Amino acid sequence: MPPEVPLIDLAAQHARLRPALDALWSETLVDSGFIGGAAVEEFEAAFAKTMGHGHVVSCGNGTDAIELALDALDIGAGDEVIVPAMTWFSTGEAVTTRGARVVFADVDEVTNGLSVATVEPVLTPATRAVIVVHLYGCPANARGLAELCDRRGVALVEDCAQVHGGRAQGQPAGTWGRLATYSFFPSKNLGAFGDGGAVGTDDERLAERVRLLARHGQSARHRHELCGRNSRLDTLQARVLSAKLPHLREWVTERNALAEYYTQRLTDLPALRLPTHAPRGGDVHAFHLYVVRTGQRNALASALAEAGVQTAVHYPTPLHLQPAYASHVPAATAPVAEALGREVLSLPLYPGLTAPQQDAVTAAVRNFFHV
Ligand SMILES: *Cc1c(COP(=O)(O)O)cnc(C)c1O
Repeated sequence: MPPEVPLIDLAAQHARLRPALDALWSETLVDSGFIGGAAVEEFEAAFAKTMGHGHVVSCGNGTDAIELALDALDIGAGDEVIVPAMTWFSTGEAVTTRGARVVFADVDEVTNGLSVATVEPVLTPATRAVIVVHLYGCPANARGLAELCDRRGVALVEDCAQVHGGRAQGQPAGTWGRLATYSFFPSKNLGAFGDGGAVGTDDERLAERVRLLARHGQSARHRHELCGRNSRLDTLQARVLSAKLPHLREWVTERNALAEYYTQRLTDLPALRLPTHAPRGGDVHAFHLYVVRTGQRNALASALAEAGVQTAVHYPTPLHLQPAYASHVPAATAPVAEALGREVLSLPLYPGLTAPQQDAVTAAVRNFFHV
């Protein structure tokens, strides 16, 4: 019997870190400090260093991080923000809930992210920001977009929820934009034991503003400079993330090796389109997901399920075709994003995935295509 292969196995990752993780539970119980404190500050400093940011402000989740970044830039009613049509819903939602207008742009065939060619035509005098998503962990052309945004006086925000540990054109992904946003949702490349998020930037003024916005506008105890919100990373989550952070680099290396293994064994299948590992010089794919494309997506997913291989679709419906944007004007078209919605399938990929498991996946895929 071939082994069952889950899409992701967090228990396998955590088993490797068991002593360190066990210790932080008891540490938390003993000091019973659950909000703020040194553990949160230590994580923010360590994460800033690893990601190449001058400043990091932690927050409640990755969606809050995008909202806080837009709020820090004073984006609201009357402003337009360009967002990829294919991404997790948060990227668009955060713009809409700020009261600003989402302008959907199509994604690039190779990176699955925004490109200069898709963004430039939809820039208008009302555009205040562009949010590039490094989708599936693949570095988008952040450098090209940063140059375009610079020329046009628009802020570039990088949604880095899927690219922890990746590099774009020679720099850590997230360091090309004015602000970078992160999610620590458990299944991300760097995941907490619950929700968590962060905003990174080199701009001290913006960092200070994000911190104020996320902490009720408090500049000092009981002094509120503005009306913000409450968005915090729990102390326990900061400890979990600090225990995992030193392993991020080796996990991304492992993810790349696993991706390479798939690519070598599937590259001869003409009906299957495989991910591009490093679209540009200086890119390091973070391989949050290994996403293949095929016109027979649903049939392939069923065949894999029958063979004990779990897969998922990230994502079946582009944002501009979601019911929430049904009355969006002007109606957007994004042919690449729409094709991705019909054709993408994520294969199992996570640190700890074994060669026999990967062989079971590739055998089932080859079997489906009769090769
Ligand atoms: C996960 C994710 C988010 C949101 O993160 P949460 O922590 O779940 O709020 C935003 N953008 C992208 C691209 C994501 O993958």
